[in-house]
Order: sequence, then C-alpha cells, then structure tokens
Amino acid sequence: MRFEAIAVENIPLIHAGDDLPLIICENIELQDRDIVIIASTVVAKAEGEIFRLEDISPGKVALEIAARNGKDARFIQAVLSRSREVLVEKPFMLVTTLAGHTCVNAGVDDSNIEDGFLLYPPVNPDVSASRLGQELEKFSGKELSVIVTDTNGRAFKIGQTGAAIGIYKIKPIKRWIGEKDLFGRILEITEEAVADELAGAANLLMGEGAGGIPVVVIRGLNHYCKENPSIKEIYRPEEQDIIKKGLRCLQKKK
Ligand code: GDP
Ligand code: MN
Ligand code: MN
Repeated sequence: MRFEAIAVENIPLIHAGDDLPLIICENIELQDRDIVIIASTVVAKAEGEIFRLEDISPGKVALEIAARNGKDARFIQAVLSRSREVLVEKPFMLVTTLAGHTCVNAGVDDSNIEDGFLLYPPVNPDVSASRLGQELEKFSGKELSVIVTDTNGRAFKIGQTGAAIGIYKIKPIKRWIGEKDLFGRILEITEEAVADELAGAANLLMGEGAGGIPVVVIRGLNHYCKENPSIKEIYRPEEQDIIKKGLRCLQKKK
C-alpha cells in the first residue's frame, strides 16, 4: 500500500480576487479522486480577508482583554471579530470561531503576509472548500475532494500540525465502529480523524515559512464521497466537551 503527497509548485503570491482553482489547475494535472489540500492562508488572501492593523479600532471588550493580557488591542479586536466565544485570554487567545473551530487567535495571522497586515481566516471554510472544489472539478473535469487547512497547536502537546478547517466531498471521520480487530473483536468506539491526518501529511510539504507551497495533492487514497459533508461533524457536541466546560469555569473565576 502507498499514497503520494505532491507539492504543487510555481504558485505565485496570491492577492485578493485571484482565481485560485485556475492557478492550481495550471500547475498540476489533477486525477480522479485526488484530494487537493489548500492552506487557509491563500484561501483568505484570494477571498480578500486582508486587513491593515492600523485601520482596526478596538472596542471595549478588546481594550479590556488587552489590559489583562498585554497584547495589541487591535489584534485582539481582529480575533474577537471572528470569534463566538473566548475560552482563554492569557497567555494566548484560545477561541471558538464563528464557524465553530476552536483554535488560537481564531486563525488570525500576521505571518506570510506583508508587514502591518493581518490575514483573517475564511469566514466559512466549508463554503470556501466547496466553492474551490466545484471550480477545480470544472477546470479539471475530475472528481475531487478538497481540504482547507490551517496550522493548529494541540492541547497537552508541544508542536503544531496541519488541521482541516473546511472540507468538500470527503468525510472528516472514518468510523471503525462495527469493524473487527486482528482478533475478531468488534470495535466499539474508534473514529479516525482522516481529514486532520491528511492535513498533517500535506503540512509536511507546506511547512510554515517561505517555502511557497500552499497546495498539496494527496493521490492514491480513496476517501472521495459523493455527498458533501461538513467539518462541523468533528466538533464535539457542547454537552460532551469537558475541556471547554473546564476552561469556562476558569474564565469565570477571573
Ligand atoms: P496556514 O497554515 O494556512 O496558516 O499557512 P502558512 O502561513 O503556514 O503557509 C503554508 C504554506 O503556504 C507555506 O509554504 C507558505 O510559504 C505558503 N504560502 C503562503 N502564502 C503564499 C502565497 O501567497 N503564495 C505561495 N506560493 N505560497 C504561499
Ligand atoms: Mn494560519
Ligand atoms: Mn501553516
């Protein structure tokens, strides 16, 4: 068994309004069932989610948080504008985004963008993934899956990995429940986070710096599904999320 991860080379610096699917198709010949993995940074750039730090005027809550955590109130305002809940303020902002993804700084980023600018993540990465997927399928004439990724830290562990934040025609989870283990026992709970695993694999080629590889194609795995699932399937239901409950308790104590 084997699969390939192919870095799509020669992608230029992306600007607002650029036709990302066309640019991708000009630089790789896609095949049926390819999984096209796209860094949210370039999705955000193409969608024009670029803001000048000096143009952001912080509101009351942003100013209060900045007074507590010592960060730039304008940056906090940027994070808040994409967040539905703040879970941690200090030493970093851990939030749940409007789309339901929990991560540091709501994915607002000042790396791989010109000085003085901030890049906001796509507002609805599932919608972005679908739009990109449909265009890629149109240009290539192939059946494709798409994963929009970001780099995320993990609870309990040092080090970041690629994470799926939006998907098109791929299930985020492979359920092993009901399948047999090596000894014939029926598996009862294992759910494999395939979209995150693929994002992690692609991130090995993307890196985090000046590599200039925002798109990676995974070939040779069959995860294509005709329906169009949502990444929201992997967000733990509120009532089961004991980590969030714990963080809320700590927020209240302050
Ligand atoms: P994120 O994980 O989505 O936040 O994206 P990163 O900022 O970590 O960048 C992932 C990869 O995309 C790195 O190899 C960057 O050099 C590359 N990258 C970022 N922006 C651009 C761009 O506009 N054009 C190209 N060609 N590469 C970019
Ligand atoms: Mn990022
Ligand atoms: Mn990254």
